[in-house]
Amino acid sequence: MRWCCNAIQQQFEARKKRGIAVVAVPPNELHPEPRFQLSLRSIDDEVVRKVQSPLAGEYVAQTLQTWAPIKYCPWCGVELRRFYRKTWDALYDESELSSLERQAN
Ligand SMILES: [Zn+2]
Repeated sequence: MRWCCNAIQQQFEARKKRGIAVVAVPPNELHPEPRFQLSLRSIDDEVVRKVQSPLAGEYVAQTLQTWAPIKYCPWCGVELRRFYRKTWDALYDESELSSLERQAN
């Protein structure tokens, strides 16, 4: 497996920890090419269920994980769709996709 840079591999391998990672969205009928999302996680996955917010019960929007569509590697700048056309599944983890993308696939 050839990665575009070390950072994308290291961040993907650490995707369950807080931080950012690039994840692939598999091709489907609507989108025949793989797409990519930048995933931001603010709390390690293994402890996220233990979090008791001091804001519980109040209506204050909080974000534990969020995603944004991206086209280029944030570390080295390659065009992801082009570089990972045949190897996108190296960046695939269904549990890391946003719920919208999970429903679509
Ligand atoms: Zn890269």
